[in-house]
Amino acid sequence: MNRRYRKTIIAGNWKMNNTLSQTKAFAEEIKPIMPKGKWCNVVLCVPATNIQAAVRLFKDCHIAIGAETCHELDHGAYTGEITAAMIKEAGAKYVIIGHSERRQYYNETDFTVNKKVHAAIEAGLVPIICVGESLEQRELGVTMELIAYQVKCALANVAPEKVRHIVIAYEPLWAIGTGKTATAEQAGEVCQAIRTVIRKQYGAHVARSVTIQYGGSMNAKNAQELLAQPDVDGGLIGGAALKPADFVKIIEAANQE
Ligand code: PEP
Repeated sequence: MNRRYRKTIIAGNWKMNNTLSQTKAFAEEIKPIMPKGKWCNVVLCVPATNIQAAVRLFKDCHIAIGAETCHELDHGAYTGEITAAMIKEAGAKYVIIGHSERRQYYNETDFTVNKKVHAAIEAGLVPIICVGESLEQRELGVTMELIAYQVKCALANVAPEKVRHIVIAYEPLWAIGTGKTATAEQAGEVCQAIRTVIRKQYGAHVARSVTIQYGGSMNAKNAQELLAQPDVDGGLIGGAALKPADFVKIIEAANQE
């Protein structure tokens, strides 16, 4: 983390979990245990049906709300989809884009990720852009090239002053939901490489402002070590964000001096 230049952001990704009543119960449980110090920003990305209620429920404990995806277009005949503007008007501030589950199950590509990033920025949302390699790609030794490619595609034609405010989440596919975490060194190395890609393209001033998270089985036990890496500015958390006590422990780790 480097709080001098950029925000530390701990974001939960609820995926397809939690009904409205479960969201209310989560809010009641987390409120009394939320850390008071405000070193890091906290976000919960929730199912679209819960966004509006979640904005209201989590306001008091300073948790911002995000969506888990958006469509790349601003209207049209796309049954079941929602636009970035709809998410924004529902009160969300963030949207996850290009999560590996979206890439794997819903055919999202680096090309559509770029379009969605533009749509999110246009609507005034902060995109949390997910990139990451598979185990096969890591073993082939192409991780850095692949991540650089994903980052460049995602940010194609995005203006430098907009890039400053985006969030990138490095999520190695082999670590998501597997209980297998990247070592702090592996996470730090790739997050540093992501910042280098941004620096080469947009300059040092932009690069040092971008929040780069690690995601992949981050939990109460490993959070502090991962967040101690200078280029790891927070976490995108799946499983551990479903339990208020576990999520709070990760926030506490990010609040350490
Ligand atoms: C994720 O879904 O983005 C994620 C990191 O999940 P988990 O923490 O469960 O590995």
